[in-house]
Amino acid sequence: MNHDHFFVPPGSKISLKEYDPKYTGNYKEKADAEGKLQTDIQQMQKYQDLLYAQNSFALLLIFQAMDAAGKDSTIKHVMSGVNPQGCQVFSFKSPSTEELDHDYLWRSAKALPERGRIGIFNRSYYEEVLVVRVHPELLKNQNLPHIPEGNLIWKQRFEEINNFEKYLVDNGVIILKFFLNLSKSEQKKRFLERIDLPEKNWKFSASDAQERAFWNDYMHAYEDVFNNTSTPWAPWYIIPSDRKWFTRLAVADIINTKLKELNLKYPTISEEYRIQLFQAKQMLEKF
Ligand code: ATP
Ligand code: MG
Repeated sequence: MNHDHFFVPPGSKISLKEYDPKYTGNYKEKADAEGKLQTDIQQMQKYQDLLYAQNSFALLLIFQAMDAAGKDSTIKHVMSGVNPQGCQVFSFKSPSTEELDHDYLWRSAKALPERGRIGIFNRSYYEEVLVVRVHPELLKNQNLPHIPEGNLIWKQRFEEINNFEKYLVDNGVIILKFFLNLSKSEQKKRFLERIDLPEKNWKFSASDAQERAFWNDYMHAYEDVFNNTSTPWAPWYIIPSDRKWFTRLAVADIINTKLKELNLKYPTISEEYRIQLFQAKQMLEKF
C-alpha cells in the first residue's frame, strides 16, 4: 500500500482538506479488503514474536481522533492476532488530581512499553495541545508557575513533545502516530446510530455532542499539531476513517511496514550456551 496518501511529510505545511476521510485506495468495499487484513494480522503476529524475543526495541502506537472515529475498534481489530502478553493498551482520560500534580508527560512516561512490547496509547499527551488548546481554561487546573503568552505555550509544548519523542526513539522506542480522520457528517451519522440503537446507547455521552460545536477549533488544533510534530523520528499518519474497514487495513499495513524495516531477528546463542544446552540434553536422556 502506498503510504503517501496518509503520511505527513516532516517540515511541510499540510491542510486537513487535502486528506479525504472517504478515501479507500484500490479497494471498493469491505469484502475486497478482508483477505489482506487477515494476512497483515498474521504477519504482525510473527513480527511481534521477533520483537519480544529480541527484547531490544519497543513499539509505541499513538491513536488520536475525534469521538466516534473508531479508535477502539481499530485497536481491537488490528491487534487481534498479537499475543496479549506482549501488548499494553492505555486509555488516557481527563487527568486525575495526582496526575495534575506532575508535569504533563509524567503519566505517559509511566505508561511507556517495555522493550520487546507493543504499547498502545488510546489518546495521549497530544490532548495537551488539542483539548487543552480548544478549552484553555483546562490549563488553569495545571498550576503551572508560568504560562507563556498566546500561542507560545503551544509552540513550547510542540518542542517539548518533539524532544521527548526523539529521546524515546534514541532509546529504542519506535513511535507511530495515527490520526483517524473522520468527517463531520460521518460523526453525526455514528452519533445518531448510538442514540437510535439500544445496544450502542452505552457508547454515547451527551458531552460528545456538545464537543461537536468546537469541530473547527479542533481541526485547526490538529493541523497545527501535524505541522509541528510530524518529525523524521516520529511521523504522523492521517488515516481516512469514514470507512472503518479501510482504517484497519491502512493502520495494519503501516505498522507491518515499520516492523519489517526494523529487520528483527531471533537472538543467536553463544557457543558457551550451546554447550550448556548440549549438556542439559545429555542429562535429560540419562534419567
Ligand atoms: P470512548 O468515548 O470511546 O470511551 P474516549 O477516548 O472518548 O473513548 P472518554 O472517557 O469519552 O474516552 O473521553 C476521555 C476524555 O478525556 C476526552 O474528552 C479527552 O479529551 C479527555 N482528556 C484526555 N487527556 C486529557 C488531558 N491531558 N487533559 C484534558 N482532558 C483530557
Ligand atoms: Mg468519548
